[in-house]
Amino acid sequence: MPADSDCHPISFEADPGKQRRLRIALVFPPAVLPTSAPLGIACLKAWLQSASVGAGIEVRNFDLNLAYFELALGWLGAQRLRMSLGKSDFQTTAQKVRAAIDFFRGRGSESFFDLNRYNEHGAIYTRFGLVLNGLFDSFARKMLLGAQVPAPASRFFEDLLLPIKSFQPDLVGFSILFSQQLFFALALSKLLKTSSEVRDPKNGGVPFGPWQMKIAFGGATFSVMPDPGRLLTSVVVQVGNVKERIDPSNLIDYIVAGEGEKGLEALVASRLFPGDSSPGLIYRKEGKICKNPAQGVRDLNTLPLPDFSDTPPHRYHSPEPVLPYLSSRGCPWRRCAFCTHQRTYLDYREERAEVAVQRILELQRQYGATYFSFVDEMLHPERVGKISAQLLRKNAFVRFCAYARPKGFSPGLFEKAHGAGLRLLLWGVESASRRVLDLMGKGTDPAEVKTILEGAHAAGIWNLLFVMFGFPTETSSEWHATLDFLDSCRTCAQALSRSRFLLLEGSKVFLDPQRYGISRIIERPQRDPVSIAYDYEVSEGLGLEEADALFKRSLPRLSGIERSRWFAQLREHMLLYASRDKPL
Ligand code: SF4
Repeated sequence: MPADSDCHPISFEADPGKQRRLRIALVFPPAVLPTSAPLGIACLKAWLQSASVGAGIEVRNFDLNLAYFELALGWLGAQRLRMSLGKSDFQTTAQKVRAAIDFFRGRGSESFFDLNRYNEHGAIYTRFGLVLNGLFDSFARKMLLGAQVPAPASRFFEDLLLPIKSFQPDLVGFSILFSQQLFFALALSKLLKTSSEVRDPKNGGVPFGPWQMKIAFGGATFSVMPDPGRLLTSVVVQVGNVKERIDPSNLIDYIVAGEGEKGLEALVASRLFPGDSSPGLIYRKEGKICKNPAQGVRDLNTLPLPDFSDTPPHRYHSPEPVLPYLSSRGCPWRRCAFCTHQRTYLDYREERAEVAVQRILELQRQYGATYFSFVDEMLHPERVGKISAQLLRKNAFVRFCAYARPKGFSPGLFEKAHGAGLRLLLWGVESASRRVLDLMGKGTDPAEVKTILEGAHAAGIWNLLFVMFGFPTETSSEWHATLDFLDSCRTCAQALSRSRFLLLEGSKVFLDPQRYGISRIIERPQRDPVSIAYDYEVSEGLGLEEADALFKRSLPRLSGIERSRWFAQLREHMLLYASRDKPL
């Protein structure tokens, strides 16, 4: 044991001379629509179990996001939670939400592919997510401020935590992929840390606990923040007009920035007494915030298979499980001026195509999945070719989708990839203005983009287009040129993910604003703690307000291009649609 163990609240010694196994709970917190199992905690669990620390630990994964939706649905049905969506009354809302989730889970059901019904249920499901999350996010914030929340709301959070409490972990690691998960994770952290005794209703109310634990936050949200350590000093919580700074010292003990494997392993190896040798770890020591340089797994071919055993993929809101898979880390292009995604990973590395395919087939064998979503930042054409060749060589029957940059793809490649099971590509199109694309550093050409989209379509691959409006210096006529371009893609593009440009701290635009026509960067008055977005003023092109107004006016025209408005949000569903090999 380390010398300062006397002041540490956790004793790992069950009996003298023998350390008990360290219990680690990896948690995916609410609130995102649960259409597939979370990948980050599945990778980390597998890594910890296969690492040198594996023998001395017990790792269990908890998808509290899925549990939160399930619990809300149960409470809604039992009228313990009352919610109304639009013009529906409470009773009808509960029925409609249940019907939507049953519809999305209707395994083998053909009605899922009735687009009109799909769109109706999609509208209810996404609206339910929005209202539920808004409600519970505000409860979470109030709990952090110590303000009054309705007793059922506290009970709801307590019920959500029961499985973790009964596991009695020494370390809880929250994997935070999206900023909207932050306040949920903080509130759950507070409840875990302040639990002194828990009664297990399944065991005749027998109490267990008290115990104490350490809490680590990690995930992509922290990797792109220039200074994640600030979360260890203070957190600003805003509810309505009330804005207060809270002390997070009893909520977060460590932040694991960058790729999590090495940092978490070192933290566990230190038995929660981290030092300089815990890569990527940010922690408090003697009143100071210490930050160790991050370190990633160099050779991705040595990674263990993600472990989804605690989060069975068929439980999610999709008629067929769609498993996420990461076959490379980082972005091979890294030049887009608006992007901070490249910072999620240390540098670009790839798993060999044959290794990726071997693992996908093993996941298929273990979990009975046919559908896979490559969540790599993008697959470049050569890689699509290699992965497809391996799938064809193995005579595999899978269907998959991937992110891509529309450059360098040929009809021959699409043919081959379709034969291997590629059914959906999610393209970073961004704009149809050559000038704007050049300024963005996208390295693509609108004419080639069109040819590529048509080529994919001709091969039977569906296209989802990411488009970004209002890049600094963009003019109204360039904006309209993009709308015209999208109109011309009606036949070959099935969905759009449309967004407004966001100025993100750390992006090339942020670092050299004048080059992009930005005359002033302005702090946002209502900034969430993990937000890295800023407002700005421009010296040329559309201003922020003009762009906002134009965006609103453009939405009906954009909606007219998509087959389903919900495909861009529920991408697993879109892959299932694309895999039917039927035009829509
Ligand atoms: S937008 Fe995509 S292609 Fe461009 S740098 Fe970011 S991850 Fe890479």
